[in-house]
Amino acid sequence: MFIGSHISSSKGYEAMGKQALKLGADTFAFFTRNPRGGKAKDIEAEDVEHYRRLAKEHSFGPVVAHAPYTMNACAAKPEILEFARETFADDLKRMEYIPGNYYNFHPGSHVGQGVEKGVELISDMLNQCMSPTQTTIVLLETMSGKGTEIGRNFQELQMILERIRPELQEKIGVCMDSCHVWDGGYDIVHDLDGVLAEFDRVIGLSRLKAMHLNDSKNELGSHKDRHEKIGQGYLGLETFHKILIHPALANLPVILETPNDDAGWAEEIALLRELQKQ
Ligand code: FE
Ligand code: FE
Ligand code: ZN
Repeated sequence: MFIGSHISSSKGYEAMGKQALKLGADTFAFFTRNPRGGKAKDIEAEDVEHYRRLAKEHSFGPVVAHAPYTMNACAAKPEILEFARETFADDLKRMEYIPGNYYNFHPGSHVGQGVEKGVELISDMLNQCMSPTQTTIVLLETMSGKGTEIGRNFQELQMILERIRPELQEKIGVCMDSCHVWDGGYDIVHDLDGVLAEFDRVIGLSRLKAMHLNDSKNELGSHKDRHEKIGQGYLGLETFHKILIHPALANLPVILETPNDDAGWAEEIALLRELQKQ
């Protein structure tokens, strides 16, 4: 497994790579632009080149970029849908500067239009903006089911996946967030194997490309989405131990999105590496 955390993208790619090394990481996540939206920074060819060299030299796993939270591909208002499409298309173009990585996004909130309509809008955006020649794999994130979020269960993600054009199927996968699936009602504390078997039955484990590792401040099925530090919430250390040594999850990049500063993340990354050895 490759282990890392969220890293600020404000100083560019090489700075992210160096920061990852400082934290003891061999993957990381970053926002492609301000998480609340807005214009993305210009990409500098030299900076990207330096980053690519560093990533290769240190055998980084795939990085897991994160789309801004404001990107709602199944909004009701046309201007919000338009913003989502523009952002998504622009981000995919920019991702090609670092070929072969992952781009994770929250499927969206249907804001009362219903799951069917939401799924239709999300898959339309994907079918329109993705290309069979892109090297980036787009990941749908499993969600906690807060409000009208789509992706509250595996079935909803599969509904989207099924509608993707056949020539794009290899370019799309899923990122499982441990806090979100727990909050969504999947009991990974007592039955990780059962939850993964259910994922395999509904979606197929070959689609699972990355994980977000977060503990949860709330109980099973709470639909709250409040992340906690590793081992300090309802999931507990033993659950993370099981995840880290699970054969079906080997070789995935795992990303911490826990409430921490850099020192806290460095500690958690070291903790995860320790758990993995046990
Ligand atoms: Fe997320
Ligand atoms: Fe997440
Ligand atoms: Zn979350």
